[in-house]
Amino acid sequence: MTTTVARRRFLQGSLAIAVVGFDRGRESWASGPGSANVVAIPQLDGQLLMNPAVLAAAADDYGHIVHRTPLAVLVPGSMKDIVKLVTFARLHGIQVAAARGVGESHSTAGQAQVAAGVVIDMSALATIHEINGNDALVDAGVRWIDLLEATLPRGKSPPTLTDYIELSVGGTLSVGGVGGQAFRHGLQVDNILELQVVTGSGALVTCSPWQNPLLWNAVRAGLGQFGIIVRARVRLVPVKPRVRVYSATYTDLAALTADQELLIEDGRFDYVEGSASADGSGGWIYALEAASYFNPGSPPNNTAKLAGLRFDPGTSATVDQSYFDFANRLAPTIAFLEQIGVWQLPHPWLNLFLPGPEAPAFMQAVLDATTLDDTGQGPIVFYPFKRALLGAPFARVPDTPHVFIFSLLRTAIPATPEHVTDLIAQNRQIYEEARAIGGKRYPIDSVPMSPADWEAQIHPLFPQFSLAKLLFDPLHVLTPGQKIFT
Ligand SMILES: Cc1cc2nc3c(=O)[nH]c(=O)nc-3n(C[C@H](O)[C@H](O)[C@H](O)COP(=O)(O)OP(=O)(O)OC[C@H]3O[C@@H](n4cnc5c(N)ncnc54)[C@H](O)[C@@H]3O)c2cc1C
Repeated sequence: MTTTVARRRFLQGSLAIAVVGFDRGRESWASGPGSANVVAIPQLDGQLLMNPAVLAAAADDYGHIVHRTPLAVLVPGSMKDIVKLVTFARLHGIQVAAARGVGESHSTAGQAQVAAGVVIDMSALATIHEINGNDALVDAGVRWIDLLEATLPRGKSPPTLTDYIELSVGGTLSVGGVGGQAFRHGLQVDNILELQVVTGSGALVTCSPWQNPLLWNAVRAGLGQFGIIVRARVRLVPVKPRVRVYSATYTDLAALTADQELLIEDGRFDYVEGSASADGSGGWIYALEAASYFNPGSPPNNTAKLAGLRFDPGTSATVDQSYFDFANRLAPTIAFLEQIGVWQLPHPWLNLFLPGPEAPAFMQAVLDATTLDDTGQGPIVFYPFKRALLGAPFARVPDTPHVFIFSLLRTAIPATPEHVTDLIAQNRQIYEEARAIGGKRYPIDSVPMSPADWEAQIHPLFPQFSLAKLLFDPLHVLTPGQKIFT
């Protein structure tokens, strides 16, 4: 059973306790008329739920480390419900966070949670409204996989896809959205034409480069601080139906990163990533993963594709698959991880953006000090993209022409609190070392941050970030889980 189906059954199976009002005296929601202190909540198209099981699910995410229990969960029936809820929350000093779905947030440290506030289950608004020649208009709760399934019959795809496509459009646009096509197209936030946003002031605003540009610049990769994205116009590009995936291994990490940088400059592939895995004798072996799209009957020329690359002789291989199967390539692995219970374990991830020139030596030093016990056999992924293609100011990355994403996608095995604490401490130390060479966090991961750390993370744009908060969420209603303004 997929998590989505399981969740639907869970929500249907749980007896809905709907909120009817907010008790100002007790600062809690009320399911009945109660005292004179109870203020009626606005009429909603959806429901505000306070069942213990729903609240417990909203106090969890893919990290399974941080648990903050909300007062209620809004299952919106319309965009207007979000406007009404944020307006009401603002009036009564209640904080609000959007999440991909109850119990389905893919954050790893409570980013989509809110203690004693309201979680908005964005998966309830998941309609694809339009698919046009070059764009699609979708609700923020649509998952990339759903959009892709709708656009591929027309030969179109969003330009950059995350490795795992069951993430929500609103969720990845709030953080950036990185994938193996980013070297050619930029991040997902660079491939959006227009957004509809409910600001922290409760206003429903359309923004684009030409309309409300301040909000447009703030909300893309804005970590949910300025508005809740309710609808997005996503750019689409033509894609070929087949994909040839090339892999090759390297004993020398620097040779692989040099080849990756060569490949993103000469553009011979449509997708470039890389990874490290155990070499069986306590060290790491490195792998290039690259892909070329093609039409049936016109496959790429393997000799030309691999020319000049410095992988270990005899280690290259190719696999042909459909574009959809390639985009959804993690699905079988994830189904297996769910089945054996690993998906449900704590995931203290570390995700960094490193400056191109320093990245190879930095990653080598980190990997030299990392064991399989430190990763729980979780994937280690790294690949470069071009800084010049990035346009969302708050997607913070180093200011070098090439930037590497470096991800230690840890699973805590054993799943003891001590081991989780140890891995988070490792994350913190590596983050500090990365920061010293100009690195930034990709803030979907598990690194404890103080307000001063956030200033360093957003530097030199922290004044603009704070000003945007003042303009669009002056009462700090939205997304406290990142702990930027506490
Ligand atoms: C298995 C796995 C693979 C992943 N692969 C990739 C990858 O290849 N590339 C990549 O870039 N990321 C990847 N991620 C990370 C992912 O992008 C983040 O977890 C991201 O937060 C999206 O997840 P989500 O849709 O579940 O959003 P959530 O975790 O629910 O939300 C993320 C943040 O955005 C806020 N938010 C959510 N929806 C909205 C909205 N509509 N408006 C405003 N704020 C909102 C939340 O409050 C929270 O702060 C992966 C995560 C997992 C678990």
